[in-house]
Amino acid sequence: MTRKAFVIAGNEIEPGTKRVILFPAPNINVQVKIDIPVHVFHGKKEGPTLFITSAIHGDELDSIEIIRRVHKNIQIKNFSGTLITVPVVNIHGVMMQTRYLSDRRDLNRSFPGAKKGTLAARLAHGLIKEVVSHCDYGIDLHTGAYERINMPQLRADFSAPGTKELAESFNTPVILDAKQRDGSLRHAASDLGIPLIVYEGGEALRFNELCIRAGVNGILNVLHHLKMLRSSDPHIGKKSKSIITNTSRWVRAPASGLVEPISRDIISGYVKKGDVLAHIHDPFLINPSIEVIAPFEGIVIGQALKAMATEGDALFHVASFKKIAGVRAYIDEFREDLINQ
Ligand SMILES: [Zn+2]
Repeated sequence: MTRKAFVIAGNEIEPGTKRVILFPAPNINVQVKIDIPVHVFHGKKEGPTLFITSAIHGDELDSIEIIRRVHKNIQIKNFSGTLITVPVVNIHGVMMQTRYLSDRRDLNRSFPGAKKGTLAARLAHGLIKEVVSHCDYGIDLHTGAYERINMPQLRADFSAPGTKELAESFNTPVILDAKQRDGSLRHAASDLGIPLIVYEGGEALRFNELCIRAGVNGILNVLHHLKMLRSSDPHIGKKSKSIITNTSRWVRAPASGLVEPISRDIISGYVKKGDVLAHIHDPFLINPSIEVIAPFEGIVIGQALKAMATEGDALFHVASFKKIAGVRAYIDEFREDLINQ
């Protein structure tokens, strides 16, 4: 029996075809019309429906590049199920190269949104109504915020049914099992009973090649796990060795001054309790430098990149793990694999 056409926002997409649908978005303030392109790959064979969103924060550009590379790996003839990708959700933010919308709201605090609400609420509502609500699974792509870098990691809420399996199939070094933030897409999807994982890697406004590769591999792993894509790539479909934690904390600057981190290499971040993470120097070169100390054993999963900090600023995001033995070797192996890919 042939598969039915996929219907999205009044468009019918035949099995075995891919199409780009243009969703109308609120115009920018000078009345230039804006459309958000949504790509639909509707496979010939039955399978689940998965959406991937990126650039919900308009300065997180790694995520767009990840989707570009994922598209290159899909041959619609052999594809099962339906994949919907939205490379640029926050089109207003991408145009302005900022995390926020033009009304200074954070789109990822505005879900599920409202038809007659703010600009952010309208965009959020449209995405939920036209894309998310038609799907069985979701992946939302992010990077670290401005002037912060994140090691490749997933955020997922394991109390939502189906989410743990989805997260483990991505196969990234670290999974943070964390409750959702109110107003996030993850929260809204969970309310609809749709397992959603958030990938975070790299930094705002810049490409980070290893974090991009980790994101592409992760998505291909998920497609393989859901039996949507068959891949002969030896990097895809590996058994997950992800390390799960629900405990992480930001280490804050103990003093104001110039920050000199011990390492800028985010994908090798094992630290022991008492390790020096950075020195903070007096910009007037009078007072002695102050050490920033790791408060517990763990992995540095995020790091501030700014040269100067004010006392209390978040500097290093450290996650702790129950069984840390072997974590360091595993992360080194993961990193080597990405470099040699
Ligand atoms: Zn983000």
